[in-house]
Amino acid sequence: MKIPILMYHQLEADVSKGAPLRGLVVRPATFARHMALMRLLGYRGLSMGDLMPYLRGEKRGRVFGITFDDGYENNLRNALPVLQRNRFTATCYAVSGALGKTNAWDAALGIAQVSLMDAGQLQQWRAGGQEVGSHSQNHLRLTALSSAVMTVEIVESRETLSAVLDDPSGVRHFCYPYGDFDPAVVAVVRGAGYLTATTTVRGRFDPDKPCDLMLIPRVLVSRSTTWLHLLLKCFTRYEDKRGRV
Ligand SMILES: [Zn+2]
Repeated sequence: MKIPILMYHQLEADVSKGAPLRGLVVRPATFARHMALMRLLGYRGLSMGDLMPYLRGEKRGRVFGITFDDGYENNLRNALPVLQRNRFTATCYAVSGALGKTNAWDAALGIAQVSLMDAGQLQQWRAGGQEVGSHSQNHLRLTALSSAVMTVEIVESRETLSAVLDDPSGVRHFCYPYGDFDPAVVAVVRGAGYLTATTTVRGRFDPDKPCDLMLIPRVLVSRSTTWLHLLLKCFTRYEDKRGRV
């Protein structure tokens, strides 16, 4: 059974019309409907850490992954209560050098600046039963960097976030900024001690096929993803082999 791993970004009701990448801002009510529907169908939403035995093929069951990119404060406000109500867990990938700041990497594209969780809020996210993953130190295109700088982006991010969370087992899950990676980047992520890395390659994870846990595909969920659309993406071949976002 293939495992869909959902990729969300922001959860907010109001976004100005015509704003660039507005589609990545999902209404909280839509998110709540998505989660309720999956639960109704008998599926359990899991963080990347909780999903590990299923990805490795050690366990089977009705599960799906829930991920949030960038670490927006609106995830804490609008996703956490819904996740808790459904007894689901999710992974939020934070940019360790931007805690308490905004999505400055989007500014050049004219995308609205929104608050990112600070250290205390990330701790709240974790105390609420959720997982923190790494989305690098500064949200740069990793393949465009020198090997030394790229390594710092990947390794220091894990150290910074692990220290913020006071977590001796450390942050173990990575997400490539912009979905940008190459074999050199993948090798550094693996060597840094991460157990999984998610991409923006569209598709569902197939535990029955050999698949590198450093190259995990995901299912993009956007503002226009209706419940029917979500079902197609999760339970049919709709999303598989559709390429990168
Ligand atoms: Zn990102």
